[in-house]
Amino acid sequence: MNSKNNMDKKAVLFDIDGTIMNCHSAGKTSLMEATESVFGTTGRMSTMNMQGKTDPLILFESLIDEGFGQKDIEAKIPSLKEEYFRLLDGRMKNHQCTIMPGIEKLVPLLAGRDDIILGLLTGNFERGAQIKIGRFDLNRYFALGVYGDDSHLRNEMPAIARQKIRESHNLDIDFSRMIIIGDTVYDIRCAKHAGAVSVAVGTGWVDRSVLLAENPDFYFDDLGDVELFLRVINEI
Ligand SMILES: [Mg+2]
Repeated sequence: MNSKNNMDKKAVLFDIDGTIMNCHSAGKTSLMEATESVFGTTGRMSTMNMQGKTDPLILFESLIDEGFGQKDIEAKIPSLKEEYFRLLDGRMKNHQCTIMPGIEKLVPLLAGRDDIILGLLTGNFERGAQIKIGRFDLNRYFALGVYGDDSHLRNEMPAIARQKIRESHNLDIDFSRMIIIGDTVYDIRCAKHAGAVSVAVGTGWVDRSVLLAENPDFYFDDLGDVELFLRVINEI
């Protein structure tokens, strides 16, 4: 096979929770405990639907109506992170976690292709993302990531990914060659916001009809049919 030149490269960016894996509330429980410990309350967090939201946005939305200003919250995020990572790391060691169908085969395959830059695009804080996918020894496959540390707004993440690829690979990837894979409407919307290719997967907690109503470019119930997924990627 001819090695592809830079103009032919694509970026394939995966969400984590509900897309790569399900850590069965280990993240939510750890974030709630850390928030209680640092802020003295979890605010609205216990009843919030966290799916597709970035970690900092979850903190802002949970706490802003509880008398905390955005600046107060931002000032305590470093302490919050420290406590959250400690709790998450401890919990994930023995917690039941599930890797989604096809991921174990697909991720190394994509990482090994010279026409693909494989990355993460996730609302998790970076260290939290590493702890989660580290459970399945997947960190080594991802060349880069955009995280909740980079922005609390998911819609800003594709542009940040493009900038990071410029810096790390000296390559300007057009959004039409950036493929964003995720399990929520927010993943689809952020791809569309940038003009990237949206791939929705039904492995999270969102009903397929809800995802399909957002008109993703592609939809898969899961990525278990690796060959089918690769054919789709090859045609982009
Ligand atoms: Mg997700």
